[in-house]
Amino acid sequence: MACSSLVPLVLLLLVLERQLSDATNTITIGALFDQYESDPARELAFRYGVERASSSIKAEGTSIVPRVERVPASNGFQTAKRVCHLLKVGVGAIIGPATEPTAAHVRSLCDTKSVPHMTTSWRYRRRSEPFSVSLYPHAETLSQTYVDILETLRWTKFHVLYEDNNSLVRLQRVLRMMNTNNKISMTVRQLPANMDYRMLLKGIQNSGGTHLVVDCSAENIYQVLKQAQQIGMVTRYYHYFFTNLDLHTVDLHDFQFAGTNITGLRLVNTDDYDVIRQVQSWKEAEALRGRHVTVSPRRLSTEAALLYDAALLFAKAVDDLHVSRDIRVMSLNCDMDDLWPHGESVLNYMRNVEVLGLTGLVRFDTTGVRSHFSLDVVTLLDEGLVPLGRWTPEGFSASGADNRTRVVPSIKNQNLTVTTLLKEPYTMLKESSEELEGNDRYEGICVDLIEELAQALHFNYTIKPVPDNAPGKYDPETGRWNGMIGELLEGRADLAISDLTITFEREAVVDFTMQFMNLGISILYRKPTREPPSLFSFLSPLSLRVWLYMAGATMGVSLLMFVLARFTPYEWEPPHPCAPDQEQLQNNFNFLNCIWFCIGSLMQQGCDFLPKAVSTRMVAAMWWFFTLIMISSYTANLAAFLTVERLVFPITSVEDLAAQSSIKYGLYESGSTATFFRTSQIAPYNKMWQVMESQSPTVFHDTEEGIQRVKNDKGNFAYFMESSSIEYHVERDCELSQVGGLLDNKGYGIALPPDSPWTNQLNERLVYMQEQGKLAELKNKWWKNDGAQCSDDRGRSSSAASELDLENVGGVFVCLMGGMVVATLIAVVEFIFHLRDQASDDNTSVLSEMGRELRFILRCHGSTKPARAPPPAERRGSGSHGLVAFNEAAARKHTAAYGDFGTPAVS
Ligand code: GLU
Repeated sequence: MACSSLVPLVLLLLVLERQLSDATNTITIGALFDQYESDPARELAFRYGVERASSSIKAEGTSIVPRVERVPASNGFQTAKRVCHLLKVGVGAIIGPATEPTAAHVRSLCDTKSVPHMTTSWRYRRRSEPFSVSLYPHAETLSQTYVDILETLRWTKFHVLYEDNNSLVRLQRVLRMMNTNNKISMTVRQLPANMDYRMLLKGIQNSGGTHLVVDCSAENIYQVLKQAQQIGMVTRYYHYFFTNLDLHTVDLHDFQFAGTNITGLRLVNTDDYDVIRQVQSWKEAEALRGRHVTVSPRRLSTEAALLYDAALLFAKAVDDLHVSRDIRVMSLNCDMDDLWPHGESVLNYMRNVEVLGLTGLVRFDTTGVRSHFSLDVVTLLDEGLVPLGRWTPEGFSASGADNRTRVVPSIKNQNLTVTTLLKEPYTMLKESSEELEGNDRYEGICVDLIEELAQALHFNYTIKPVPDNAPGKYDPETGRWNGMIGELLEGRADLAISDLTITFEREAVVDFTMQFMNLGISILYRKPTREPPSLFSFLSPLSLRVWLYMAGATMGVSLLMFVLARFTPYEWEPPHPCAPDQEQLQNNFNFLNCIWFCIGSLMQQGCDFLPKAVSTRMVAAMWWFFTLIMISSYTANLAAFLTVERLVFPITSVEDLAAQSSIKYGLYESGSTATFFRTSQIAPYNKMWQVMESQSPTVFHDTEEGIQRVKNDKGNFAYFMESSSIEYHVERDCELSQVGGLLDNKGYGIALPPDSPWTNQLNERLVYMQEQGKLAELKNKWWKNDGAQCSDDRGRSSSAASELDLENVGGVFVCLMGGMVVATLIAVVEFIFHLRDQASDDNTSVLSEMGRELRFILRCHGSTKPARAPPPAERRGSGSHGLVAFNEAAARKHTAAYGDFGTPAVS
């Protein structure tokens, strides 16, 4: 009886319980976390996300509960077992795990059971996945974001550092930038798996790389920066762009004040009040439950935020779907073919609804990917990471106060380290009786120049001589630069100022200001000892050629005088002018007399007989003109030769040096002069480099040693040096001199680390100083004034007299020759006129008279001839030109033969 009365009660309870369970609908959402999960915020975000989602569900009696499963990261079997367990319990969706390929395994299980799968970490979707939804920004769009940011930052030359194959996929659009823009140059390097990045970074540093795009996990960002800092790559001259969306989770405090340009992206706006409040509330709730969690709202990771948003999205989809149907989870068996009937609908709803989560508005495009999202572009300043602007698919918009202006500071009030070489007269240690400190210890043109710049631009500086005292040379074996360039690249100096030549190789790795001094390579050589005056130095004013030509001219003119004097009738005259009626005519100009006449004129002495005919007077006049010029030139040049001591250089140019082997030559091996010879394609420079390299003992010396060797080797050593330094040393050491001109043309500039923000400011000031003549003034101060003593000496040697050659006096010879031709023509005219008169007087033909005269002339000896009777008119009157009275006997004798008339009279 008692039992039978209990039956209705039990039935009632069963009905009530059934009705109660129909009224409460609990939907479980499963999440798979790594069993060694390092970020406590992720699970917290998931749990509180579900809690928040559940509270927002409008459908009565429906609640969402979280269920967390821990799985080993790379154990697919274990993971599958946990997933099957979740399916057995009954879940509305499964989130995670974060690592592939386990996640792929879970995705395919969900696929077979029509249970939505949600992903919150980056992955590349190769094919469409019907039961999966990824809240992480779409890979392709994200890749385009990087391109947009790099374009906004105007990076054209950078190094891309990637971690693994996924990084390469993420960076694919960046890598393609080179194909579309030929101004872009990039090198792509993989970060070593052993996490020792120093070698890699050093290589980039030595190649002058300053802009780095780094794609690595958030855990490695700190290591990359720390190791970069260890080798001096975390200075104001370096720029980093981290593609990881979790840069804000890294402790960047160590790098915050270095002035390095560190840019990153952020999906979660950790500065947002709602986000901060949200995270704060989780912590408080945990504290109420007696649990202490170390979660910082400012360091909330992207994945944690996405887990929170995933719960919101699922809840929103379920809630919206509830309006039309009752969604309930059901137990599914992995070994059977059963499916969750609501899976597809929930998934479709998730792809269509929008929720505002911690990562902004979560929504999907028609293909089911999250291509619409916005990112904060953040940069590291002294106050931490601050937003530079916001990226959306529409483009980049800078935030109100453009922070970029703050990362390009003015040189004003900066404390700069200036590296330099101790080398005369660029930077030298100051001699002083007192102990000097700081920059006061140094003096020189570079010290003055930097002081001028500092005064004008209001910056402070500390001079620090470079330890190896080298300008900067690249060592291909170590991949490093030494000297001042190394100091700049390794972040130990901000400026390098010395006799630092601007070269192509250096320009590629550091920045240079404009030239502050121009110069070229030249030869430093010992001044030869002065020649002892020679016994025959009186011959020196004229070259041998000129002497020979003069001797020839003397003989030639003498001969011509002799011939013309025989031709012209007017040089034949009675031997005694007081007794004109003599039977014979005499010619003073026999050959020996002609030579005597010429020599007498040449020596400026003259002689006691002078020509009378126009033709011979023409010869004499031209000869006197010739001697006047020649003797004047000789006298003038002799004076120069006697007052100037001549220096004879065995070499006068680089070609001379290359063509001989007795004089050795060398240079400074670590400088631009060596680079010029080493890289030259031009003969003889390339051959000279080979010769220098093969020399033993070495011919490579630094400047001081080089100068010393030039002096000690007494003309057997020449040293290639830059003209500015040669000029300085030649002014001070009179034993030295510069030989030949400049081999090239270049200049010294102030070097700065690549992309230094100070280059333009220094350039502007240098241009101003140049225009004001300040640079020339500084050079004058250090080159001319202090200790310069050999300028006069140099002046004298440079104006040394040189012998006169045919080029100098050739014109006089030409005039002489012209005069001789004219004289010959006159003589011919005289001769013909005379013949004509004679023929008419004798009643003979002109030709027979000519034949007779020519026969006599061409015998070339005999300086007397019989006088002829003058024509009747003449006989009555004057006896012109000394022609004497005609006498029959003489005429007969004359007809017989001209030659019997004694020897010529030599005066
Ligand atoms: N000025 C040179 C340089 O910057 C050094 C001297 C030289 O090579 O002659 O490398």
